[in-house]
Amino acid sequence: MSKFLVQNLSNLVAYVPGEQPKKNEFIKLNTNENPYPPPGVDILSDVAINLNLYNDPNCTKLTNVFGKYYNLAEDEVIFGNGSDEILAFCYMAFCEKEIAFPNISYGFYSVYSELFGLAGQKIPLTSDFRINKEDYFNLGKTIIIANPNAPTGIVLSLEDIEDILKHNQNNIVIIDEAYADFGEVTCKKLINQYDNIVVVGTFSKSRNLAGARLGYAIANRDLIEDIKLIKNSFNPYNVNALTQALGVVSIEQDEYFKECVDKIVTERKRFISFLDELDFHTLPSSANFVFTKHNTMSGAELAQKLREHKILVRYFDKIGEYVRITIGTTSQMDYVRQKFIKIIKADV
Ligand SMILES: *Cc1c(COP(=O)(O)O)cnc(C)c1O
Repeated sequence: MSKFLVQNLSNLVAYVPGEQPKKNEFIKLNTNENPYPPPGVDILSDVAINLNLYNDPNCTKLTNVFGKYYNLAEDEVIFGNGSDEILAFCYMAFCEKEIAFPNISYGFYSVYSELFGLAGQKIPLTSDFRINKEDYFNLGKTIIIANPNAPTGIVLSLEDIEDILKHNQNNIVIIDEAYADFGEVTCKKLINQYDNIVVVGTFSKSRNLAGARLGYAIANRDLIEDIKLIKNSFNPYNVNALTQALGVVSIEQDEYFKECVDKIVTERKRFISFLDELDFHTLPSSANFVFTKHNTMSGAELAQKLREHKILVRYFDKIGEYVRITIGTTSQMDYVRQKFIKIIKADV
């Protein structure tokens, strides 16, 4: 750290991304990416010819295609350089002094609250890792909830979200739906019923585009106007031309999207039954990952042994013995099951 870093940031602890190995030697189940490739990369050289020109700051085509697909007006959505950027815009637009979020949840919620000088109220989960909706009633501050939550994978019902919205009518409630496509619950349609909800989503998980960086917020037009004000005061050209084009293809190739999501959901169910038989305790997941722990083997040991078999998973040393395992392709999961049996049987 230099002596020039502003004083307020001297204690800032940055978000730590999961390992991104340089070589292709691992089955990468540590950062919740989609294991299937994105559609539309064949069009990129046509788009790239125009990279000497600035990209469309309004993402016009993407907005239209996306709006049609999700039944939104063009002023009810805004895109960002990943949903992380959209989350940052929301913090800047809607958080005066404080923000509340579950503990545990996505690491960026507390990193951003420090970065933006906010008091972050961390609301504990129940002992079975659930969000208790009453804990979020009438807090008098902005609230952010990942639904499904990460890294648990547990989802709150639409009714519970509505209850939280009704009990916070003077504050914004941000619902981060990074994993919603892998489950049954989405709050998108609530934007016309409640004026205090912002739904944030991403193309990184269900839409195979983590490396392209594309996220969005959906809300009523007044709220989107507020987020746009921040975006246009920070980086109007935030979504590059290649990414905009890939986003359009992702929406247009709907069958491929659904096929990938279906395969992942099917594998998730299969993997959870498999883990049950091997004496694991796994939380009920509505996401593209499972959060699980073994009866006897520690999380650190399991993660290490999997690594020796070239399988990367995420172990958080602050959350007990659980490991978070992203669901891979069917053939990757076949290999993973073999190695799990080997590791667990050798240990007992
Ligand atoms: C992955 C993730 C994001 C970030 O997504 P990007 O669009 O890649 O920035 C946001 N929220 C949650 C809960 C996530 O897990």
